[in-house]
Amino acid sequence: MKHYSNLVAGEWVEEADSVENINPSNTQDVIGKYARADTRTVDQAVAAARNVFGEWSGSSPQFRHDILEATGATIMSRREELGRLLSREEGKTLAEGVGEVTRAAQIFKFFAGETLRLAGDVLPSVRAGVDVLVEREAIGTVGLITPWNFPIAIPAWKVAPALAYGNCVILKPAELAPGCAWEIANILLQSGCPAGVFNLVMGSGRQTGKRLVEHPGIDAISFTGSVPTGHEIAVKCAETGKRVQLEMGGKNPMVVLDDADMEVAVDACLNGAFFSTGQRCTASSRLIVTESIHDSFLEKLTLAAGKLVVGDALDSSSQIGPVVDRTQLEQNLSYVALAREEGCTVTGGEVIDGPGFYQRPAVFAGANNQMRSAREEIFGPCASVIRVADYDEALQTANDTEFGLSAGICTRSLKFANHFRRNVKSGMVMINLPTAGVDYHVPFGGRKGSSYGPREQGAYAREFYTIVKTTYQAA
Ligand code: NDP
Repeated sequence: MKHYSNLVAGEWVEEADSVENINPSNTQDVIGKYARADTRTVDQAVAAARNVFGEWSGSSPQFRHDILEATGATIMSRREELGRLLSREEGKTLAEGVGEVTRAAQIFKFFAGETLRLAGDVLPSVRAGVDVLVEREAIGTVGLITPWNFPIAIPAWKVAPALAYGNCVILKPAELAPGCAWEIANILLQSGCPAGVFNLVMGSGRQTGKRLVEHPGIDAISFTGSVPTGHEIAVKCAETGKRVQLEMGGKNPMVVLDDADMEVAVDACLNGAFFSTGQRCTASSRLIVTESIHDSFLEKLTLAAGKLVVGDALDSSSQIGPVVDRTQLEQNLSYVALAREEGCTVTGGEVIDGPGFYQRPAVFAGANNQMRSAREEIFGPCASVIRVADYDEALQTANDTEFGLSAGICTRSLKFANHFRRNVKSGMVMINLPTAGVDYHVPFGGRKGSSYGPREQGAYAREFYTIVKTTYQAA
């Protein structure tokens, strides 16, 4: 079985401990053994990064551009093979896996261009004969902690801007799906990224991640994952004076109004709630439907969900792959049971026998917004259908949540679409589109309990990955 090492100071480093990366479609299929960094490896990675920061942050933007461009080009040229790896380790369908790898390539190419666009400002001073310059500089050495559900796109959208703006990087991917992160490390190395500029420390959150967050040599942490871990990290970053960015959960509402195009609404809800096995922070987990359309919408959604083909991620007929692991499957099943206890009529949600963690999509009919099954993030193929009287109640229900990542509305009314866009409390709004599925050149992030700190992606990523310097200069 192939053994995958960590990357520190440009060298592949062996560890005493390792973990098997298991295919959730078929648990007999082991992708490889992946090293687990101990605290000494993290310390060496931080030292290596700090050692080269001056040279890297002072390097020509063209130099950084060429490395990121080559990385993007290689990922793009290997997208079928890497997409297969992604589907094998995470469980999303092959089409979704190849799509995510393509996205990672586009992100590297976008940030290659961003190296050349880091503009500042020159302003006249309030004092005669003085100029004021406002410039952006790299922050330093950044720790990037990523989850399993987008094992190549999320590392890409953190690593690419960090490097583009001149920071050195230590990446800690999720132990459940480290394969794609290892490939990014290898491709960056082959693309000429200097030793120490990018370091990979695979390992557990409790050991490797914790050390990264606590390390005094780390200047900033960008994290995507669960709410409790995010909060723990934020506290530690505040204690140690680090800049921090958190992307966490969602309980995203999709409003369906009486005047919606039924086909558009059912497609958007089906995609938003169940594709990628519902394992997306932007998944539509609350479907808020107005009175007159409710019953026929529920009937069509339930019928369509029942027809979705759940199976091996690499089988081209599968529309939904497996749940990522046994723990997540058990979490999903406990919420299916809870929804029933709370009075919902549940259709689907059963486990399908097989060599992996297969579960049918679950529709929780008769839900209300006070139920725990409608308030807590499940992170599986489960959606609550909530009946409301009218648009006003739909908007109020959409906003009645501790989260605020993505929110959608299906309507043919420009008046309601515009009102919703202006009044829904979320970072992203989707009109007649699924709540999941975003572009890479515009900001990504949420409000309330979903996010903390500046936005990710697009040129807005510079708010986190650079720091501003103001210079006063006598003429
Ligand atoms: P976690 O928040 O536990 O993990 C996210 C990342 O943080 C992983 O790399 C993890 O390492 C690491 N980590 C865990 N604990 C620490 C720590 N104390 N210090 C530093 N790093 C740490 O999420 P899980 O992957 O365990 O998923 C649990 C739940 O989180 C899901 O069921 C879902 O509800 C939610 N989730 C939300 C996501 C989102 O995008 N909103 C993404 C993924 C999960 P490792 O896992 O390797 O131990």
